[in-house]
Amino acid sequence: MVDWVLRKLIGTKSEREVKRLRKIVKRINHREKELSALSNLEIIKLAEGLKEKLRALEEDIKAGRVVEEAVEVFALIREAGKRVLGLRFFDVQLIGGLVLHEGKIAEMKTGEGKTLVATSAVALNAMAGVCVHVVTVNDYLARRDAQWMGPIFLFLGLEVGVINSDYSSYRVRWVDPEIAKKAIEDDIRVWPKDYEGEMLPSELIDASAKRAFFTTLESCLRKEAYSCDVVYGTNNEFGFDYLRDNMAFGEEEIVQVKGHDFAIIDEVDSILIDEARTPLIISGAAQVDISVYENADRVVRALERDKHYIVDEKLRTVQLTEEGIKKSEELLEIENLYNIKNIDILHALMQALRAHSLFKRDVHYIVRDGEVLIVDEFTGRILPGRRWSDGLHQAIEVKEGVPVQQENQTLASITFQNYFKLYSKLAGMTGTAETEALEFKEIYKLDVVVIPTHRPMIRKDNVDAVYMSKEEKWQAVLEVVKKENQRGRPVLVGTVSVEDSEHLSKLLSKEGIKHQVLNAKHHEKEAQIIAQAGRIGMVTISTNMAGRGTDILLGGNPEFLAREILLSRGKDLQSASEEEWKKALEESIAITKEEYKKVVELGGLLVIGTERHESRRIDNQLRGRAGRQGDPGETKFFISLEDDLLRIFGMDKTKKILKSLGVKHGEAIEHPWINSALRDAQKRVEAQNFQIRKRLLEYDTVMNEQRLTVYSIRRDILKSQGLDQYLEEFTNDLVSRKVYEFLIEDEPELWELSALMEYFKAILGSEISYESNPRDRQELIEALSEAISKKIKERTLEFGEEAFRQILKAVMLSNLDRVWREHLHVMDRLREGIYLRGYAQRDPLVEYKKEAFSLFENMLLEFYESVLRDITQFKMLQEQNPPEEPAPTEGPKRKNIKERAQLRKRRAR
Ligand code: ADP
Ligand code: MG
Repeated sequence: MVDWVLRKLIGTKSEREVKRLRKIVKRINHREKELSALSNLEIIKLAEGLKEKLRALEEDIKAGRVVEEAVEVFALIREAGKRVLGLRFFDVQLIGGLVLHEGKIAEMKTGEGKTLVATSAVALNAMAGVCVHVVTVNDYLARRDAQWMGPIFLFLGLEVGVINSDYSSYRVRWVDPEIAKKAIEDDIRVWPKDYEGEMLPSELIDASAKRAFFTTLESCLRKEAYSCDVVYGTNNEFGFDYLRDNMAFGEEEIVQVKGHDFAIIDEVDSILIDEARTPLIISGAAQVDISVYENADRVVRALERDKHYIVDEKLRTVQLTEEGIKKSEELLEIENLYNIKNIDILHALMQALRAHSLFKRDVHYIVRDGEVLIVDEFTGRILPGRRWSDGLHQAIEVKEGVPVQQENQTLASITFQNYFKLYSKLAGMTGTAETEALEFKEIYKLDVVVIPTHRPMIRKDNVDAVYMSKEEKWQAVLEVVKKENQRGRPVLVGTVSVEDSEHLSKLLSKEGIKHQVLNAKHHEKEAQIIAQAGRIGMVTISTNMAGRGTDILLGGNPEFLAREILLSRGKDLQSASEEEWKKALEESIAITKEEYKKVVELGGLLVIGTERHESRRIDNQLRGRAGRQGDPGETKFFISLEDDLLRIFGMDKTKKILKSLGVKHGEAIEHPWINSALRDAQKRVEAQNFQIRKRLLEYDTVMNEQRLTVYSIRRDILKSQGLDQYLEEFTNDLVSRKVYEFLIEDEPELWELSALMEYFKAILGSEISYESNPRDRQELIEALSEAISKKIKERTLEFGEEAFRQILKAVMLSNLDRVWREHLHVMDRLREGIYLRGYAQRDPLVEYKKEAFSLFENMLLEFYESVLRDITQFKMLQEQNPPEEPAPTEGPKRKNIKERAQLRKRRAR
């Protein structure tokens, strides 16, 4: 019921939207006659003029407003599409383009031509200087769409880039720029000048114009691809590049140079819903050199407590004394433990010290089967598989003489939800959005507009046939395929898994039925196969993702076929002469036209589903393969009571009824009631999955704010922007925090002034002198800050302005990366552990947020501390090179501020 009302609501809302946009389309149509009379060069000139006007309107365009000029731009794009592709935007396609421009989701059925639709919104935005990313579900589609739609963009003077995995990147260019240039000048067009109609019959295509406007991909640097006006690529690559950009060590390494203005996501439901459960993660093996830990362990065993190091059991910190430092240096045979080049050993030494003095066997951990296992300090339970971070676990392993294990660590991660939120404007298109409209709205604030098909849909969707067992089901599928194949009707069988595909393939082979199997492994090859799946006598078995984005033209796809014909003659588009190309195209058009007629007579493509998917949307995607653009077509699902969905989701009642009906072996039952029961089961799974995604997002949102903060600081550091100011702010922040931490209460008698000074001494490497009224904390803060600033100034003079800047930059960058990495790690642990904690009735998310906040604060404090320590204690190296790695952070250990304050309070009482 709710569902029905919802659908109705979205339906009427969409109708209203479509009606509104139709008015604009009418005005676009109005421009057609005049524009088609212009020459190519005149069209290009118009586009140039419009660009200038649009640049002034960049903000409006970015916000998705349909400015006056949009009408002219859309009219121009339609004209360009006719001339260079031979495709004329249908009215509904222009509506789709406007919906995208407005930052919404255009639901347009499969085969309605969404690839073309996107170009209108892309061009309008790109011409205004808004950078556009078009997101596809795989690398092949990114290349294909960029190349396929490339002519429109190149014609209008826009650059197109493509980014693929493995760092390959491309730019679209004409196959032969000379020929293209000449064709433009000579006013050559794919769509004949005086032809009026909605669609160009294939025999009227000007084959030489088509050839003149072919495009190809040229390898280029990733950064160059990103500097284009439009960039095609997959969600994964866009996301990974973003993460990698935020791990760059130099400004010049950043590839997403134009930022994140506007993203159009194709198959938006796959990307924002199906893939939204797994975040993108960049991880790396934490580099552990075991000998460093062994060395450290050896040294620590030779040190004496209280003489060489001091342990604070309450604060759980250890510190080396001056004597301890000297002794360690001797044992390690190094001159200066605090020199940058000894960073690893110092770090390992501190961890070994902690391992030996703070972590006790059978209290904090146990050793079992050669493994160090953590004991949960709250519950006393053993936590198998958990490891302490940052080398501590390794230090304990060495201490206990068990094998040291390597560790993988997260270096960066983001969910798609949060990645796509970076864009000022987001839009999407898909054939199946309506069932998920609520989620799109709630999570992404995206409206769904259902756009009517260009031609009435005449596909026949049959009720499901339900069998008692899987075996009977497969048998029935086999029979139908056999029968239809004998008639020559093309059949597409969808399966839910690769195993099912293989199973069916075997059955078909036994019967001697020729067929193809697609498993979404080789996108390009599978696209070629699926493009011909509508030809006579074809049987194609395919999992859901396979051959995505390629449409099944009844009778076959003439252009694909023409290329194949060329290939069979040992030629490709570039090497074939104009004559050869023309001939191949003519042949393929003749073949496909003839076949098209026959297949239509046979009822069009038959789509068979062999199991219901977890969500109705995926079922609809499969059905959508048939009946495209007003073609005939038919779909039917064959299911069994042994299928997962029915087994798991309360179909017992159904089973009982069927059994009591006494269904015979091999016999199916078909009843709308079963379909509605199935729908209910699917809805339950959908709702459950929505909850999972929502939860993931809620947790990642906490991380996201922190990530944005850190990334923006990082960008400034990379650009050496405002470093002095940062330093000043850090200092003030750190000083005031520490002053209030050590000097709590309003009674100066309880203040721990000497501890405070010790703390700063440890960080700065020497005593600081200041003048202040020791009873006024505010004054003390100022005096201390000033003293530290003075110290920093001295360092600046010592190194020289420029060298100091370099050091500061390196120190800030590496410390930020380190504390952030550790923070990610801790947050991961927190996330895992939050349910285990004894939070009783409290909402774990709320607890998570609280803890995450204080952890983040601590992280920033540690960052400040270590930057200050490194730049004040950093020793000039013999070589004048700036440091590659910073000095480590040890000394007074960061501690939860609240905890410390409480501790002090207690002590004070
Ligand atoms: P979708 O992504 O919506 O499933 P595609 O972009 O793959 O659809 O296009 C499907 C088919 O429709 C393609 O063969 C394309 O050439 C064709 N097509 C798209 N728009 C038009 C048009 N305006 N006129 C004629 N054919 C079109
Ligand atoms: Mg598509």
